[in-house]
Amino acid sequence: MITQDQINTLRNTPVEAGQNIIDGIAVSSATGAALDVISPIDGTVLSTIAAGGGEDIDRAVIAARRAFDDGRWSRMAPAARGRILQRIGDAIAAEAQALAVLGVRDNGTEISMAIKAEPMSAAGTFRYYGELCDKQYGEVAPTAPGTLGMVLHAPVGVVGAIVPWNFPLMIGAWKIAPALAAGNSVVVKPSEIASLSLLRLVEICHEAGLPDGVLNVVTGTGIGAGAALGRHMDVDVLTFTGSGGVGRRLMEYAAASNLKRVYLELGGKSPLVVFDDTADLDAAAKTAVGAIFRNSGQVCIAASRIIVARNVHAEFTGRVVAYAEKMAVGDPLDLGTAAGAIASQTQMDNILSAIDLAKSEGADLRTGGTRLHADTGGFYIAPTVFDNAAQVSAVVQKEVFGPVVTVQPFDTEEEAVALANGTDYGLSAGVFTRDISRAHRMVESLRAGVVHVNTYGGADNTVPLGGVGQSGNGHDKSPHGMDKFRDLKTAWIQL
Ligand code: NAD
Repeated sequence: MITQDQINTLRNTPVEAGQNIIDGIAVSSATGAALDVISPIDGTVLSTIAAGGGEDIDRAVIAARRAFDDGRWSRMAPAARGRILQRIGDAIAAEAQALAVLGVRDNGTEISMAIKAEPMSAAGTFRYYGELCDKQYGEVAPTAPGTLGMVLHAPVGVVGAIVPWNFPLMIGAWKIAPALAAGNSVVVKPSEIASLSLLRLVEICHEAGLPDGVLNVVTGTGIGAGAALGRHMDVDVLTFTGSGGVGRRLMEYAAASNLKRVYLELGGKSPLVVFDDTADLDAAAKTAVGAIFRNSGQVCIAASRIIVARNVHAEFTGRVVAYAEKMAVGDPLDLGTAAGAIASQTQMDNILSAIDLAKSEGADLRTGGTRLHADTGGFYIAPTVFDNAAQVSAVVQKEVFGPVVTVQPFDTEEEAVALANGTDYGLSAGVFTRDISRAHRMVESLRAGVVHVNTYGGADNTVPLGGVGQSGNGHDKSPHGMDKFRDLKTAWIQL
């Protein structure tokens, strides 16, 4: 899908300063201020983005509202909307290599993962919702004779979308594509740590025929542009992926402004439960290592807690440590790299602090725990395994969002479930077992939005992703991914 030669050609191309796109026009921030974009590969300045704020968000929301109200998109025939969304998907796929390399230079994800998880995934999401556009029906209610009750889907209006830095294209598409498919206008605010590829995606949308004003992008900090979007009086729905702390702020902003609906896809502390009847312990260990260490652990569903049957605990942990030590961590633009950079210096420092805390809490550091390749100026951390971590410890309870996994042994299935469910989170979980009845019992008992059985990750557009507990609410992907972006509207007619 991408060759090392293609990567090498693209990796040093100059990156133009990023601008906001409002009403189809690329513009600087209202104040003219810009932010440096630091590449985590080597710590150098890659480019700049507009430091958007309240005025920029206001202009973008006004453009989005105008586009919604005049019907240029909201009243376009669904099949015609669908064709444009599918063209966008094709255009993203046609530019996949350049988009992937740009994104990797911005956020440090290893290219082998980024090419699939970013442009190709985003292309698939636009195609999926493009196809779905004219395949959604309303209902006729079973009312009394002489009356007609129709249940219709109405777009909500203006959708604000705030996305994180780990997968800006994939997560951006999970929000933008279904919101557009439902007929809304959108204002998207990417993370200040990784905006560049999403800015290009918005340009591609316009080149593929999306009318001006329907999709607007404003870059900037969370406290600047993000908070302004959260507080805006004319945003109807806010969809967010990011940390729990910011999710809380967004609910406060909604309460203090116009009571906009807020959908949160937050963090996780996802468990991977390994039973002693697992068919292939070595394959499970390999999967467990990929499940936490790909993208250096900066994956919302990363399986950061291994919970393993005591009689295979030593053997399984040994295999995990061995595979972790074999992982190639380094230049994310090398196709042979298995885990790339940490997205920012701040995030790297946070992860190293979490590792220090885990050591002081008494967990056994089996491997890793240190910064790597500091001489490059980039941000890299060795895959880190803590054995025998206590359930109450911070490293078990708090999301690290880095390459850190804990191991805890269990004696009974009930104990495994109690350990797995014993955090505030509930995004994802995994189970390895050969016993089909046990697999079903675990799917039922694990408190998580998604439970993987004898695998981890890999779910496609056809299934929803969303958390329970403090992992959030609402769902991205699948036909349910449109529910956030449309209202049920009833027509009651006397015949
Ligand atoms: P973050 O919460 O720091 O930032 C996310 C976005 O919110 C960014 O665009 C940021 O600028 C913005 N923001 C920050 N402060 C804000 C404020 N006061 N008001 C409005 N917006 C604000 O998250 P991050 O560090 O970019 O991403 C990592 C987090 O995202 C982790 O917790 C991870 O688990 C979570 N995540 C969840 C999923 C999921 O699907 N559940 C997917 C990916 C990442």
